[in-house]
Formats: sequence, C-alpha cells, structure tokens
Amino acid sequence: MDIEDLAKRVSAGERRALARAITLVESGRDDHRAQAAALLARLPQDRQALRIGLSGTPGVGKSTFIESFGMMLIAQGLRVAVLAIDPSSSRSGGSILGDKTRMDLLSREKAAFIRPSPSQTHLGGVARRTREAVRLCEAAGFDVVLIETVGVGQSETVVAEMSDLFLLLLAPAGGDELQGVKRGIMEMADIILVNKADGDLKAAANRTRADYAGALRLLRKRLQDPEGYPCAMTVSALQEDGLEKAWESISTLVAWRQAQGFWDRTRAAQARYWFEEDVKQRLLAQLQGPEARAALATLSDDVAAGKADPSAAAQAFVDGLRQ
Ligand code: GDP
Repeated sequence: MDIEDLAKRVSAGERRALARAITLVESGRDDHRAQAAALLARLPQDRQALRIGLSGTPGVGKSTFIESFGMMLIAQGLRVAVLAIDPSSSRSGGSILGDKTRMDLLSREKAAFIRPSPSQTHLGGVARRTREAVRLCEAAGFDVVLIETVGVGQSETVVAEMSDLFLLLLAPAGGDELQGVKRGIMEMADIILVNKADGDLKAAANRTRADYAGALRLLRKRLQDPEGYPCAMTVSALQEDGLEKAWESISTLVAWRQAQGFWDRTRAAQARYWFEEDVKQRLLAQLQGPEARAALATLSDDVAAGKADPSAAAQAFVDGLRQ
C-alpha cells in the first residue's frame, strides 16, 4: 500500500481514502499497525475539528438526532463525520450503531462521512481505533466529528476523553424520577438534550428538562464551565426543533473554552491520558506473551513454595521483560 499517496488523499478530504485509512488503523495486524503509524505521522497536525461526544440509551433518538443535527450543520456549510463506539457490537453479532440505513439522508451527503463502530470486545482496542479515526477525520478536513456511544457506562468515559464536549440525550420521563442516569455520566455532560419534545410528549419533556436542570445545579462547579453550564434543553430530532438553539449553546461553550484556554488544556490533558493508556496497553500486551506467561508461572510457583521472596521475584520478572 502506498502510504504517501493515501496520506495525500486523506488530507485532500477524499472520503474513500478516509474509509481505507480507518480500515487500516482498525486492523490488528503488525504490518498494518506499522503502516497506520506511518500514515498518522504523515498527516497534517494543524487541523482541528470540533469533537462532540454523544451518548444515550437505545431508542432515545440518537440516530434521528445525528441525522437532523448533521443535516443542519451541512446546510451551514460544515463537513460532518460520525463515528461510533459500541463495545457490545461483537456480542450482539452486529453493530447496532453500524446500521447504515439509520442515517439515510446524511449518508447520501457529500459533506458527511459515517463510519460504523469497529467490532471488538476489548474497549481499550476500540478506544485507540476510534481515537485514530477521529484524527483521520480531522486531517481530512471535517469540521465536526460526532462520536456516538450507547449509554452502557464505561464507553462514555472513553468518549469523553476524546471529545471537546459531551452531549447526553435523554427521553421524556413518565414520572418525576431521573431515569436512573448514573451520576458519573451526568457529571460528564456539558449539555443534556431531552429529545422527543413534540406532540403528546412535549409536556413530559419540559418537566424532565426542568428536573435535570435542577439536578445539574447540584453538581460540583467545574472550572471549564462558564455561567449557565452544564445546561439542559429540549429538542425534537424528528421535527427538527431546538437544533439551532442546541448548536448555539455548543458554539457559545466552545468559544468560551477557547478564549479561556480550556480547549487547549483539555486537548493536552487528553493527549497525556492516551499516551499513558497506550503505555499500559503495551505493557499488558507484553505480559500476555507465551514467554512472559511461562516466566510468571515459574516465579509464582517459586514464591508459593517459599523459594523466592515476592518482591525479588517481581524484580526478576520485570528485569526479564526488559531483555
Ligand atoms: P437510537 O436507538 O438512540 O439511535 O434511536 P432512534 O433514532 O433509532 O429513534 C428511536 C425511535 O424514537 C424511532 O422510532 C424514532 O422515530 C423515535 N424518535 C427519535 N427522535 C424523536 C423525536 O424527536 N420525537 C419523537 N416523537 N420520536 C422520535
């Protein structure tokens, strides 16, 4: 594969090249990993997209929202990429987020790029692939990258660590209970969007919004938030209502964070986080090798038999890894 040529075509914004490049970074093969690294090194480093994380349980309206929100952004002249993290996809035998027909209008737009989630059980692996896919989309000149995830817990943290801001999509609640949204997930949200604020559901959506606005006020104030954030709003993805206001709130927040230096600082902290994660992954991978496992088993037996001290054995093991 001509990596130089691929890098050029990705940088020129060619969607087919972008798709090929993402396939390359998703591959676990050693030669592909080397090619992917060479490709990433050849890409322009100075292009930044707005990375938006988006989470919500199945059925809340994520794909409907991405479709109408994406179409609205495209109408404003922006290029929009959609990526997904769905760690459960390999278990369910097919990615629920990968269904191309879900965003029918958007997928036909030249200014849009939609990529289903890589099917992998291991969240660490999915995280790296998605993070590299985000970089590829930025290099390809996309203005907005939406990173979608199903609300299943850990994947939110992963998405938040690679996003500039995080949207949480909720449905109108029947009663006055807070839908069992985990506190940790609420704390990640910059903007809560209560979707389906239309027809019979409108009143319930307004109540839910008020409940969440109240709950958000009780959370610890974060440094990276201007007055009035995090906030809760209502939208109707189906009727394309409230989407402009949502975009306005996003833009206001982004402009503030950029002016205050939080944008750069957050990106720097995220880069550090991913570097450390990558080191951990590599060290763990070393532990999985047959020789390392054998050495671990032998030393472990020695320790159990009282033939070696745990610390000394650990030191011997680590020294062995270095050779
Ligand atoms: P996802 O699983 O989160 O991606 O949810 P979908 O986008 O597939 O939507 C699930 C269902 O909710 C579909 O039947 C949609 O038509 C419906 N839905 C999505 N957005 C809205 C909305 O704004 N209003 C109403 N009334 N229904 C919606």
